[in-house]
Amino acid sequence: MTTTDTTGKFLLAPLPYDMRALTPYISEETLLYHHDRHTAAYVNKLNELAGGTLYEGMALEDIIRQAEGPLFNNAAQAWNHEFYFATLSPAPQRMPSGRLLEAVNATFGDTDSLRQNMTQAAVALFGSGWVWLAADDRGALSIVSKPNAGNPLTDGLHPLLAIDVWEHAYYIDYRNARADGVKALWQVIDWKAVCKRYDEHNL
Ligand code: MN
Repeated sequence: MTTTDTTGKFLLAPLPYDMRALTPYISEETLLYHHDRHTAAYVNKLNELAGGTLYEGMALEDIIRQAEGPLFNNAAQAWNHEFYFATLSPAPQRMPSGRLLEAVNATFGDTDSLRQNMTQAAVALFGSGWVWLAADDRGALSIVSKPNAGNPLTDGLHPLLAIDVWEHAYYIDYRNARADGVKALWQVIDWKAVCKRYDEHNL
């Protein structure tokens, strides 16, 4: 996750699609601010805070597991956003498939129930944070709500899917209606990317 330059500085990953590609669900203006301003700021601050410390040159996941305070916050936000943007697609696979589909059905009943549970968790999360679908080492699925920059990597889990419930993720398009923003997000979540993560970990 997240590439570095030759000096070990983290680089802002380009969006894997055009800024206009996710309309009408996520506008160009939202992506411009969310990626080019907010995410860029997290990456810049991460480099500033890690530089000249024992964290310089460390893998981003290890910084997330070990750091606290502002360095954790900016490291996790850099990772979370690259992961989030990479989960979205203008031509998404609409449903999980293969082994992940089996696990979703066994755990939640069906994909719609999983969507409902994650949406409920997103609406219920007070303030800023993230709602995750994560798997443990045996492939068991869970929905994990985290405040602020929280990431299930710190619990030893494997993140599969993330819903960003910070206001900057939806406020331009949906104002205070977080539920509408989450409903729209499901239209561009690419289950192919989610399934690939599940399969990659051999869960
Ligand atoms: Mn965000």
